Amino acid sequence: MSTSLDSGPPPQVPATALRQRLAELRGPSAAPHPLDARALAALAANPGCRRRALLDGAGVDKAVLAQALGSPGAFGQSQFAFMRGHAFEARVKADRGAELLKLLGVEDTRQVQVPDLSAAGPEGRTARTALALREAAAAGARDGAWTLLDHPMLALDVAGSPAYLEPDAVVVHPDGRWTVVEIKSFPVIDGSADPSKVGAAARQSAVYVLALERVAERTAGARVSHSVLLVCPKDFSNLPVASVVDVRKQLSVTRRQLTRLIRIDAIAAALPDGVSFDVEGCSAGELTASVEAVPAAYAPECLAACELAFHCRERARTSGAVESLGRSARGELGGLTAVPDILAAARGESGDPADPAVAALRRAASLRAEALEAAGCR
Ligand code: SF4
Repeated sequence: MSTSLDSGPPPQVPATALRQRLAELRGPSAAPHPLDARALAALAANPGCRRRALLDGAGVDKAVLAQALGSPGAFGQSQFAFMRGHAFEARVKADRGAELLKLLGVEDTRQVQVPDLSAAGPEGRTARTALALREAAAAGARDGAWTLLDHPMLALDVAGSPAYLEPDAVVVHPDGRWTVVEIKSFPVIDGSADPSKVGAAARQSAVYVLALERVAERTAGARVSHSVLLVCPKDFSNLPVASVVDVRKQLSVTRRQLTRLIRIDAIAAALPDGVSFDVEGCSAGELTASVEAVPAAYAPECLAACELAFHCRERARTSGAVESLGRSARGELGGLTAVPDILAAARGESGDPADPAVAALRRAASLRAEALEAAGCR
């Protein structure tokens, strides 16, 4: 299969036609896998990967696809972590969010409004959330009321397709501020938590802030706080402790990366005939050919963020792509894009000696040879 993705502007595909095309790609019996903020943050972290953009846009369950390809990923939460997270969140939100609101400095929680956000389907829940936010903003301005929205639903346009996002909570302050609340089950020990987990939570929260801003733009007097409230268990207990996390940096990165995402309609339009990600109807060979028909941008960071990472890593290694060594190595090696070319350049068999990357490789190779000789390894 061959494909060309770089010619001309994206075609204008009507939304219904695109939805139908994406449903065909997913397969007739597969329900769409929802795109959550965690996936969106990972997508925004690798905006050059058309493969992930298309699979996520089409609602393909990448974990199931990776399994069918023979490269299941060791990615995602364990069942134990999932249960623990749920139990902790239930505790934090018990009694109409009394404990959570106390962490925000609200002592008298009896007057706090907790609207019912239930509605049919994600579109209905998104509309219900937008209405509740507008009512909460009006109640705050009128009566000085606080409002807690438990699991609101927000929508964000991602590469031409809507993604529905569900933060743990949003608190509407009487002064018109809206604060995203993220509840995590990793502990804060002696006042500090695992920085990588805090960073992931900040990136995820930034996606919620971005989606919330779309509603705030249409609500008089509302403004979304760029600091989110991260609630975690304290030390080794189940007591919640809150930290205010400034997500301005993550917000600007996510905003920039999402605008750079290639539109899904352009990726879908460039696919060759016969591409399908239907795990029920296709053999492993057909699925592999379909996945390979969509260009990827593998980097070792994928291992912590994408279910297809083992498959893509294997392909990148087999093809000798320098990306498998990491983005920094890729950046420093300039025009050398394949591992065999790099090794040949280091041995002096190819490459322009005036090229700084080639010169650095030869210098490194000669230092290595000297070191091996001095150690008696040659
Ligand atoms: S693992 Fe593959 S599909 Fe997933 S982001 Fe990386 S390159 Fe893209």
